[in-house]
Amino acid sequence: MFGAMQEQPLLISRLIEFAARNHADAEIVSRRVEGDLHRYTYRDAAARSRQVANALDRLDLPAASRVGTLAWNGYRHFELYFGVSGSARVLHTINPRLSPEQVVWIINDAQDAVLCFDLTFLPIIEAVATECPTVKRWVLMADADRLPATTSIPALIDYESWIAGERTEYTWPEFDERTAAALCYTSGTTGNPKGVLYSHRSTVLHAYAGAMPDAMNLSSRDSVLPVVPMFHVNAWGIPYVAAMVGVKLVFPGAALDGKSLHHLIETEGVTMAAGVPTVWLGLLNHIDSVQGGFATMRRTVIGGSACPRAMIERFRALGVTVLHAWGMTEMSPLGTLSTLKGKHLVAPESEQLALMEKQGRAIFGVEMKIIDDAGRELPWDGKATGDLLVRGPWIVSRYFRDAGGDPLVDGWFPTGDVATIDPDGFMQITDRSKDVIKSGGEWISSIDIENIAMGHPAVAMAACIGVSHPKWDERPLLVVVRKPATEVTAEALLEFYRGKVAKWQVPDDVVFVDAIPLGATGKMQKIKLREQFRDYVLPN
Ligand code: ADP
Repeated sequence: MFGAMQEQPLLISRLIEFAARNHADAEIVSRRVEGDLHRYTYRDAAARSRQVANALDRLDLPAASRVGTLAWNGYRHFELYFGVSGSARVLHTINPRLSPEQVVWIINDAQDAVLCFDLTFLPIIEAVATECPTVKRWVLMADADRLPATTSIPALIDYESWIAGERTEYTWPEFDERTAAALCYTSGTTGNPKGVLYSHRSTVLHAYAGAMPDAMNLSSRDSVLPVVPMFHVNAWGIPYVAAMVGVKLVFPGAALDGKSLHHLIETEGVTMAAGVPTVWLGLLNHIDSVQGGFATMRRTVIGGSACPRAMIERFRALGVTVLHAWGMTEMSPLGTLSTLKGKHLVAPESEQLALMEKQGRAIFGVEMKIIDDAGRELPWDGKATGDLLVRGPWIVSRYFRDAGGDPLVDGWFPTGDVATIDPDGFMQITDRSKDVIKSGGEWISSIDIENIAMGHPAVAMAACIGVSHPKWDERPLLVVVRKPATEVTAEALLEFYRGKVAKWQVPDDVVFVDAIPLGATGKMQKIKLREQFRDYVLPN
């Protein structure tokens, strides 16, 4: 027997209409590429998303057509999130930090029919537009006066002229909630980028889960700054959660340096911010240099790569609780967040920090397990280390156009991460499977070694990689960027490990470099480092 409740598909258009009706005057503030601040409300955002939907209808774009974006976090990008998906097209966010060749590859793979881009990316588009035959409309996300006088881009229009004549009313179509809504390519740290196609249902369920108190805990009382880009797994779902709960949104645009972020946080009363560790390094360095603090910010979600304990402690000293989070493009992306349980609130600070350093507990909707090489499930004892698998309604079942074949193993998605899970359900990533250092049959966690180095006052950034070794197969090499105006020797850094890890886990050597290559999503590119140091000869 079925239940007798109303059947209403979970559609993204409902989110923006809910916000327009229930949080009409809640603010959305954006730092524009032009430098100024733009402010308006959910009421305005909803009206303009409807104009976008009308403009897409005018182009006669069939349902499921892809509309690409190459844009920072800002109000026009927010409108596209709802106007495109709400009208049954697919929003395809592209990472502009990829090389022009990769951008072209992705646009062609997705067969984008429209491409909307920020002023910053005009030169890239000028260079590649003719190589993208599927795009029939290019939209510069700026005012009309920013359009170039002459251009090689065919069918170029500015966003404001594009939507200006359109009605602010629109009847959002009703359709199956499993319909495709958004497309995001994996950042390609592991092989060719593959598209992950989110549905309306997966997006709305993920938004419910993301808003919960043990997740990002967002409400209409917050002011949230998503530093994590809207082109990186939909800014971890924050735009959808925002509309769902009516949070004040503060978009940083292209100004991601510590000084600009701090200014925005202080002037807009930001209570929660979200971003990857490398961006927060810039913010903390700025706070250090001006001996500043935070008047309103109380929480920050940090994920995308491991958040070092030193960063958690630094934020804590500034009155900000770090919520360490883990996820993947294939997971929409939220999987786990490290929020303490009631019983941990009375635990000593060191124990609390040890838990906060873990990647955290699953949110309802995400099931996890760890398995050994033979596929046997391992216990949740906080010690057993195995390959992490996940399943749930916002986790990929296959890639766009079936790239790479069936990714699942008995219905579970293998994350490529290696982890432990403790009896309270706190998962800790020890490594990505390909970054694990295999020394004499034992595994050394590169993340552990890096986090310890990050606790040294002279270390700005550290990467640990395996270098081949005649006897042990691989041994760890620590690659370090020093903080400006500090001195530290390799010997002193190695000494710093004494008593913190087993002797055989201490790196064999340290090399100092000016910079560690970062990928398009701000992660250290260990593949490049491994290439660079492939022939490195370790001391005996
Ligand atoms: P890609 O897989 O293409 O690099 P994603 O942004 O989807 O792009 O990255 C997901 C991966 O990032 C995870 O599988 C994991 O290895 C890593 N990751 C994400 N968050 C964390 C975290 N908090 N700690 C450690 N690793 C993380």
